[in-house]
Amino acid sequence: SSLLLLSLTFVSAVTAQDADDAQKTKFEYQSDVTRLRKIVINSLYSHRDVWLRELISNSNDALEKFRLTSLTKKGFGNDDPLNITIRAVEDEDGKGGKIIITDTGIGMNKEELAANLGTLAKSGTTEFLNRAESADTTVGTGNLIGAFGVGFYSSFLVADRVYVASRPPRSKENPEPEQWVFSSTADESSFEVYPDPRGATLGQGTEITLVMKPDALDYLSTTKLTGLIDKHSAFSSTFPVYLFTQR
Ligand code: ADP
Ligand code: MG
Repeated sequence: SSLLLLSLTFVSAVTAQDADDAQKTKFEYQSDVTRLRKIVINSLYSHRDVWLRELISNSNDALEKFRLTSLTKKGFGNDDPLNITIRAVEDEDGKGGKIIITDTGIGMNKEELAANLGTLAKSGTTEFLNRAESADTTVGTGNLIGAFGVGFYSSFLVADRVYVASRPPRSKENPEPEQWVFSSTADESSFEVYPDPRGATLGQGTEITLVMKPDALDYLSTTKLTGLIDKHSAFSSTFPVYLFTQR
């Protein structure tokens, strides 16, 4: 496996945050997304472990897209190493925590954040949703979901709020790309997009911050995270995955 466990105390960077209302643009999720999110959140509880595999696989896809594009596009991106880092951060009061997954891949600009995370591009989605909604057992839905792949929305199985900060690689046309944030809670049918109040903290790529649900705090444990990555090693990344732990 390409997992490297680093028991280092990382420099605690400022985590993703909210912005002033004036900075935010609010979008409604496409109706199929709202349906999919409901199915995922309501009937996938017993399969909730899938979130990590889905996010690592998205990061892996983004890194691969960057790698392929940079082969033919001169002056695309910086020379930062291509990898995925996972950090689990416990709140100081011990009552909550965040998991932050960062990749140095292709990233998304503000339009892409809204389009890629707010709509479903896959064909057959509506058909899938109709079948999943009429499935009468959780097992049935689980199988459907397994075959379909729930992707990014599986984050909401374990997180009350998700922030996606992203910055595309620099290019000749865009030498100083901006960093934008997509933010959404598990229960609303809308999401927000805004310029990152922290500025451009990423060289390039995407940082997903999961504000963990109170009943999902066990995922903050290193043992739990390494176990999950090992379990799904068939899906794990072709790029290095670094797991940083607080202690
Ligand atoms: P899928 O991976 O099957 O396309 P997902 O729901 O997992 O579906 O992701 C939706 C889309 O969001 C992806 O196709 C991609 O365009 C974008 N995306 C998700 N995660 C990332 C990431 N880490 N970096 C760049 N783009 C991403
Ligand atoms: Mg995916």
